Order: sequence, then C-alpha cells, then structure tokens
Amino acid sequence: MEFAYQFDVAGILVILTSLVCAWVRPKLLDNFTINLKLLIVLSIAYVLTDGSTSILLQLKDPRLYYFTYGLLILYFAVLFLFPFRATMYFYELCGEKPNEILLRGTLFVMLSLAVFGNIFFNFFFSLDRETFSYYPGVGAFTTFVYYFLCAILVGVCAMKHRRYLGQIRLRLLITILFITVFTIIYQNLIPQQSITGLIISLSVAMTIVVFCFIDVTVDELTGINNKVGFTRACDEIMHNSDVSGYSMIKIQIYHMQELNERTGMENGDRLLMLLADTIRKSCAMTKSKSVYGRIGGDTFGIFTRDEIEINALSEALSGDHIQNPITGLDYAVSFYAGIYRLEDKEMDIESMLDHASYALKWVSGNFKTNVAFYDDDIRQEDEHRKAVERKVRSAIIDKEFKVYLQPVYDTMTRERVSAEALVRWIDKKNQMINPGDFIPILEKNGFVTELDLYILEEVCMMLSEWKGRGFKIVPVSVNFSRVDVNHPGLVDEITEIVDRYGLDHSLIKIELTESAFNGDMESIIKVLNHLHEKGFIIMMDDFGSGYSNLNMFKDMPVDVVKIDMYFLRNIENNEKGMIVLESVVQMAKRLGLAIVVEGVETQKQYDYIRKLRCEMIQGFYFAKPMPSDVFPDQITAG
Ligand code: C2E
Ligand code: MG
Ligand code: MG
Repeated sequence: MEFAYQFDVAGILVILTSLVCAWVRPKLLDNFTINLKLLIVLSIAYVLTDGSTSILLQLKDPRLYYFTYGLLILYFAVLFLFPFRATMYFYELCGEKPNEILLRGTLFVMLSLAVFGNIFFNFFFSLDRETFSYYPGVGAFTTFVYYFLCAILVGVCAMKHRRYLGQIRLRLLITILFITVFTIIYQNLIPQQSITGLIISLSVAMTIVVFCFIDVTVDELTGINNKVGFTRACDEIMHNSDVSGYSMIKIQIYHMQELNERTGMENGDRLLMLLADTIRKSCAMTKSKSVYGRIGGDTFGIFTRDEIEINALSEALSGDHIQNPITGLDYAVSFYAGIYRLEDKEMDIESMLDHASYALKWVSGNFKTNVAFYDDDIRQEDEHRKAVERKVRSAIIDKEFKVYLQPVYDTMTRERVSAEALVRWIDKKNQMINPGDFIPILEKNGFVTELDLYILEEVCMMLSEWKGRGFKIVPVSVNFSRVDVNHPGLVDEITEIVDRYGLDHSLIKIELTESAFNGDMESIIKVLNHLHEKGFIIMMDDFGSGYSNLNMFKDMPVDVVKIDMYFLRNIENNEKGMIVLESVVQMAKRLGLAIVVEGVETQKQYDYIRKLRCEMIQGFYFAKPMPSDVFPDQITAG
C-alpha cells in the first residue's frame, strides 16, 4: 500500500509535463505525432496498471482474483506495447521506417504469450488463488529479450542518425536506455517494491521536455543555442537587465564550405564543435551574463559585455588549439568576427546581428585583421549601401542612370574605332556617382543585371537614333557584370534588345571583367559561345587585374583582350612591368586576339604602346568618358 500513491503521481507528472510544454509553446501540440501521443497514453496506462495490480495483490481479496489476474495480463500487454511505441516514435523522429516484420511480429508473439501463453502455461506469472502469491513464470526472461530487441533497433537507428539527433538527444537516449535496463533489473531483484512506473513516467516526461521543448532551441550538432535559442536568450537579457556596454559579435569560419569539401564533413563538424566549445568556455568566464549560439551553418553569435572579453575571445580563436583542429590534414582555418557595440538599447536583435554582419563582411576580405567593429567608417559605408539599395529602383524609372562614352582609338591611325559605354548615376541633387561606388552593391543584391540591360537598351536606342540621323557610328562595348552570367535567359534578352532596335549584332560588344572568368567555367563558356554564335564580339576586360589562367584562352570564345591599366602605372620606370606587358601582348597576338590597352594617360605611354603594336588604345590621353550626346559631334568633327 505504501507505494501506491507514487504511481498516480507519476501518471499525473506525464500529463502535467505535456500540458506545461503545450502552454509554454502552444504550437507544440501540433508537433505531437500519433506515436508520441500513444506513448504518453501508454505510460499513463503503465503506471495505472502497475499501481493498481500492486494494490490488488496486497488486498488479497479472493473475490477480486479474476480481476487481478486480468489486470496483470493487461499490465504485461502495456509493458510490451510501451517499448514498441517508443521505438516507432524514435524511428519516426529520424524519418525512418523500422523493420516492421521484426518489430510487429515480435510484439504479436509477446502479446499472444501474455494472453494465451499465460492463461494456459503460466508463461509470465502464476497467481495463487488462495494466498494471492505472485510467482514469475518460466518465460519471464523473454521480457528482457523483447526490451533489448527494441533497444538494439533504437540504437542502430540512433547511430545511423547521430548527426541529426545531435548531442542532446543522443545523451537523453543513452540515459533512457540506461534507465530502462536498470529498471528491468531492479524490478526483477525486488519485485515487491517496484517503482518502475515512476521511473518510466519520468523518462517519458523527460523525453517530451527535451525532444519537444529544449531541443528546438538547441543546435543539434554543438549542443549550444541555435538561432532561436540565441535570439530568445538575448531577448531575455535585454528585458531583464541593463544592456549598456553589451556588444553583439558575429563570428564566421572562413570558407567553411571549401573546408568541408576538402577535408570532409566530419572535420567540418569537429571544427564547429571545437569553436562552440571555445566560445562556451570564454563565455563561462565572463563576469556578466553572456549568451552565445550557433546562428548559421558556419556562423556563431555572442552577446556579451565589455571589450576585454571580446578581445580575450578573439585571442582564444587565434590560439593554436583552434587554428589547427584537423592536424595532419594541413588546412589552415581562420575566423572573422564582426562586432557591433550596442548604442541603441531599443534596437531589435536582428538589426544588431545585421550591424555585426556588416562589420564581418567588411573584414572578411581583409588579410591584416580578422576582427572589425561597426565603427564610423563602416557605418558610413553601410548607410551608403542602404541608401543605394533604397534609391536604385526609382533611379532607373526616373532615368538617373546616364550613358557616358569613352572613345577607343586605332593606335596607328588615331582614328576612333569604337567606344565603351560607362554608366554614371546623376542623382536628384545633380551629383554624379561613379560606378565604382554602386556597381559592387548592385552586384551583391543582384540588381546589376537590370541595370546592365538598361544600359544596353540606352546604347541601342542611341545608336539607332544616330543611324537614322545619318551619323557615322562605331561599335559600342557594354560592360556586363560577372553576376549577369548566372542570369537565366541573359543571351536571349540581350539579343531581343539589340534586335528590337534593328541593329547589326557586330555593333555591340560585350565586355566581361576578367574575374568573371574564374567562376563556373562551364556556364561562362556556354553563355559566351551562345553570344558569339549570335555575332556579338566578346571582350575580356581588365585583363591582368586578377589571376587569369592563360591556358583558358584556348577554350574561351574571346575576341578582344582589354589590358588593365595597372600594367601602365609607372611603366616608364618599371622594367618588370614592361616585360609582363610585352609577353601578354605576344601571347594575345599569337592566339589571334585583338588588344585594347586601357588607361593611357601620357604621350610616353602612348609611344610605348605604339611600339608594341597593340591595335587599340583607350585612355584620358585621348579622351575622357563623355556624355553620350556630345559623342557624335566629336565623331563627325573627328
Ligand atoms: P572598366 O570597364 O575597366 O572601365 C574603364 C574605367 O577606367 C572607367 O572608369 C574609365 O573612366 C576609366 N579610365 C579610362 N581611361 C582612363 C585613364 O586614362 N586613366 C584612368 N585613371 N582611368 C581611366 P569608370 O567609368 O569609373 O568605371 C569603372 C568600372 O565600373 C568599369 O571599369 C566597369 O568595370 C564598371 N562599369 C562601368 N559601367 C558599367 C556598367 O554599365 N555595367 C557594369 N556592370 N559595370 C560598369
Ligand atoms: Mg569595361
Ligand atoms: Mg577595364
């Protein structure tokens, strides 16, 4: 009788846990699958049958013999249904199907043994009618076998899905398996004082809490907060304490994807866990409360107080133990951190992360340092970026983007043979913004394609108008960003625009910067071949500014190479530069490519280029980019 009360408490515990979880996260019940619901019902049934049979066994009322016997059979049925359902739920959680024949087949056997096997052969137990004594049957040990079978099935599935399960679930699982085994042994050693029901209910309650409640805020891999958990933890600090002096730090592993590809996902995971561990330890040492989490695949967030901690953290990150986590594989790992010092306490967490992200982006291309603060310089850049993004759409509609043309000359005859279209943004305040200030931003947000096609259309409109007015026209080259190459249907759109104005395709040249040739070569070759087939001339812009693979020229349908003016800087006193330029010119000539030298500013440079016999020349020495409407006057004049 003494133990009877605790079984009810255990049953209630499961119900309460479920309700509390549902209350804290109302959407939680949606996540309760039928298997989980049945598991809860079974755990309650388990404690009820377990509790009531032990009461009945102690009451020893002969009138209740059959009732007690029936209840004991029911208890065994539940005893087998419980692990069956738990296994089913676990498989479902991993998105797997268990071996149905094995699992259902054995359940069927166990249930048959519990009912018929026991009635006819006292398989699991016998119950003395007079003394009400309970004796274990000869086949009682099969209970173990069945439980172990389920445990093995769960174990196999868990090992297979351990990446998905993450540390928390895996630990919980091991705990529950341990509890189950312990309970079975305990129950068999001291059957009279069994507290199995309580323990099993506790396990189920724990499962519900962890799987459905804690788990959603925890990163599966590292066991620290995920984005949801991190945001909630920051939110809590912001609401409960004074956040002055706090900083939002965003840490990113440099080239995580490459690292995964080169050294394998496992090493990538190890690195993430190592970084999580370093962050955890660093934050544990902070005086005021710090929170941290893995907020993206390769990104961690930390919300902490003063700078010393931040510095200590970045030092820890560049320490040996994290720099070489994959010893033997010889892969240098580095991290970048962007830090936003909180100024506006009302700012939402997303915006703080945004600011930290911006500092992070700023530092990620920097080889001198790996930590950047969102300071005034970055702030200005960020604000400029936001302003550009905000204004760009209306700028196209309001025709604020103007085409400037810079003539290209024949080196020998000094005749204008072509022109390059260069965009200028003349905003509402009549200020001119140079492409270098906005093209990179538009490349990032994908807007550049729209702009490039717009410039192409303006150029076509202009050429067809000049043609109609009987001006002498020269081919015009239009710059296309490397981002454009990935735009589906680019070639068709270009062709459609040029055709709409009835222009010969040879009048439009396509300039693609050298760095575009480092991307996905296959798709670039495809796009360029397609354009080439349509009769457009292809130019490689800024040759020499990047790391071109000279070998690729043989596969690339390029007609003209524009040599970057970088080569011309101080060329007069730069012998090595001259050697490089001369070899590039030689190579281009042998490959049958025409050459334009850009950025010619002085007579000396011009003389030198002429000596090299490069066909075309473009630069301030001859003419600067000019508004398109003055261009034809000069042509006719020139
Ligand atoms: P780019 O295509 O290499 O254009 C040549 C740049 O060099 C132009 O700068 C031009 O003004 C400048 N330049 C020409 N001759 C000289 C010279 O003798 N000395 C010096 N110091 N500079 C000279 P701009 O117009 O500022 O354009 C910069 C870059 O912006 C361009 O480099 C091009 O990559 C990009 N860009 C310009 N317009 C467009 C466009 O419509 N679409 C795209 N996607 N990019 C564009
Ligand atoms: Mg260009
Ligand atoms: Mg160029």
